[in-house]
Amino acid sequence: MKIAVVGSSGRMGQMLVREVMSREGCVLSGATDRKGSDFIGRDAGEVAGLGACGVIIQDDPAPVIAAADVVIDFTRPEATEEHLRLAAQAGCAFVGGTTGLNDAQKQAIELAARHIPVVFAANMSVGVTLLSALTKKIAQVLDDDYDIEIVEMHHRHKVDAPSGTALLLGQSAAEGRNVVHDDVKQAVRDGHTGPRPKGEIGYATLRGGDVIGDHTVIFAGEGERIEVTHKASSRHIYASGAVRAAFWTKGRKNGVYDMADVLGLGD
Ligand code: NAD
Repeated sequence: MKIAVVGSSGRMGQMLVREVMSREGCVLSGATDRKGSDFIGRDAGEVAGLGACGVIIQDDPAPVIAAADVVIDFTRPEATEEHLRLAAQAGCAFVGGTTGLNDAQKQAIELAARHIPVVFAANMSVGVTLLSALTKKIAQVLDDDYDIEIVEMHHRHKVDAPSGTALLLGQSAAEGRNVVHDDVKQAVRDGHTGPRPKGEIGYATLRGGDVIGDHTVIFAGEGERIEVTHKASSRHIYASGAVRAAFWTKGRKNGVYDMADVLGLGD
């Protein structure tokens, strides 16, 4: 399988180049980065720290995407929108992990998916995808006598709270309980809050050090408590999930998929 990595000199891009180069059954067919980047013209393997692989980083994504079976994109929302359009034109499957897409950019995913298979997920890790499926299942079984709280911790540089992954877990819990997440979400508690309303999904945010991402979903009932936890200790898990998704696109029908589909956990 020919895999192209766009944004190949970014933190995730380099991780993806290493992952593609070291996996059996696929080759790195092309690499790009933004116009004006210092990395244009350099060897993608060298930039990723693995030594030269003969793939030179380009600033024009069109021919790179046209020559690939799958393109993997962890870049910026406006770049992702363009890459989706080019992939749809070229009939190249798409795996995307870029976060922070606005509504128009999310619409671009749907439009592209009319022509190609698109796997898109805000968290590509196999472990978080499993945690999310488990959270939904547990919430389906337990009623609202069990209070749901989601605790997350990230490094001190993170700018948003709760994390996108924590919100994804809350959304899974709400789906399991058959309620609208925004109606029951409680992300801030401070001062005299009064007793906890029944049915609330609460969030607690911790920040500090270099923590890549810890998430725990707590179901607290009378006499027992169930806790499910995921701890990321390397960003490698996102790259390895993305390459797994790239393999999975082979022979798929056009449409939008997520990591739960890739792992066979979809509804
Ligand atoms: P980064 O800033 O290190 O890398 C982004 C790369 O994209 C840079 O090399 C940049 O030059 C490049 N880029 C920007 N515009 C481009 C364009 N028009 N064409 C080609 N390349 C372009 O960021 P990062 O930490 O690698 O994260 C990238 C994205 O992936 C972010 O949105 C982040 O939130 C997301 N992310 C998702 C997951 C997941 O599991 N889904 C995991 C980690 C990061």
